[in-house]
Amino acid sequence: MTPATSFHGKRVALFGLGGSGLATARALLAGGADVAAYDDDEAACDAARAQGLTISELKLADWDDFVALLLSPGVPLTHPEPHWSVQRARAAGIEVIGDIELFCRERANIAPNAPFVAITGTNGKSTTTALIAHLFRAFGQDVQLGGNIGTPILELEPPSRKRAHVIELSSFQIDLTPSLAPSVGVLLNLTPDHLDRHGAMAAYAAIKERCVADADRSVIAIDDEYTRLIAGRLRRTGKPLTRVLTTHHELRDGIVVEGEQLLERRRGQSRPIASLAGIPSLRGRHNAQNAACAVAALGDLAEDRARLQKALQTFPGLPHRMEEVGRRGRVLFINDSKATNADAAEKALSSFEPIYWIAGGKAKEGGIEPLRPLFPRIAGAYLIGAAANDFARTLEGSVLYDMCGTLDVAIDHAAHDAAESKAQEPVVLLSPACASYDQFANFEKRGDRFRELARAYATPTVPASGDAA
Ligand code: ADP
Repeated sequence: MTPATSFHGKRVALFGLGGSGLATARALLAGGADVAAYDDDEAACDAARAQGLTISELKLADWDDFVALLLSPGVPLTHPEPHWSVQRARAAGIEVIGDIELFCRERANIAPNAPFVAITGTNGKSTTTALIAHLFRAFGQDVQLGGNIGTPILELEPPSRKRAHVIELSSFQIDLTPSLAPSVGVLLNLTPDHLDRHGAMAAYAAIKERCVADADRSVIAIDDEYTRLIAGRLRRTGKPLTRVLTTHHELRDGIVVEGEQLLERRRGQSRPIASLAGIPSLRGRHNAQNAACAVAALGDLAEDRARLQKALQTFPGLPHRMEEVGRRGRVLFINDSKATNADAAEKALSSFEPIYWIAGGKAKEGGIEPLRPLFPRIAGAYLIGAAANDFARTLEGSVLYDMCGTLDVAIDHAAHDAAESKAQEPVVLLSPACASYDQFANFEKRGDRFRELARAYATPTVPASGDAA
């Protein structure tokens, strides 16, 4: 744990008692603060009490007693409207911050030069964060991994010069971290997301920009217009910046992707860095973006190309993101349960052929029409859940489909049909392009069920990353 000492002897309000809220409360108490913790959800308050935390009815409290509000990132700070606790804090004139801010203050206090890699972007954050941590470890570094992925930041070991914190940040977390200044800031990509919580794309992009704006060194993938503009602004400040480009190679200095090769560009000349060919956990152009940014984040360590190549090859990947769960003969079984919309499913559909595609669940706006250019890759669609009828209407006349109802039936039919394919590597792919809530508690449960069922047909081919995570 990292005790948060910046409010030693002071009284602070804390709202939100999920995993990170509880960890924040514990860290503040360990750092000598007086914490008034609360949540609108009774069950969350009860769970916190069961862990020995005192719950204070913040609605009735005198907010003049507090010097700060510690807010959980899931609680609205600005849009659609500030939560009542934020309104009370504003009225009392106190700051509203989150757990990452407490970490930054602690780092500034006890180890200002401690390695701190902060990763953000609209997509690929978790994969890139896990990959950076994996690469650092492969180079023998002491790594703490957490933030928006896995362990809340204040539950990790304290910052130190000899230990790298590799931290995934959501836009909500950045919004609550005014003094964010990592040693390395990584920005992967920006597409419209969470606009209900940020109001407009410009506001969302401005928050994400803060992950790199005050970093000692930055890595920015400039494949989209927003990140290109941010990189342009940062370049003009003269701060160290590595640009990554995966869509074409017209970059004088930086890292580009050619096929499955990562290339360093220096004054317009290319030098190979590493190859992603045959690495199951890093299939697809999106993962090339993640890998190129991860390699850039490593800095000088990546100069040992042989070690880097080996480290990339042993990355187990994350469960539910194009996770290879097994093979039966030539047939490959892929769990991409995290693909809860068409945009995410597009990544998997672009990465395989022919595909025996299991799709459906709780429909999202827009359906699967945007995936039409990829329909020729689909040998058959096995539809499940509430969206099945909608999807069938879109597929009609273009792709053969089978109304399966449940995942169990779908995998049975898909595995059977794939086994009859003469192709070199037919793929049974769960990439639902839908939320799971109609049939499963969450996408993890859906993917776990797929993995379990798939293993009845297939033999695991890679270390089962899903089992470990
Ligand atoms: P996040 O943590 O940002 O949600 P993940 O690493 O969990 O991202 O990946 C979630 C999904 O996003 C993946 O299954 C894939 O479909 C898509 N994805 C991953 N990396 C990228 C990327 N660099 N660009 C676009 N989409 C990506």
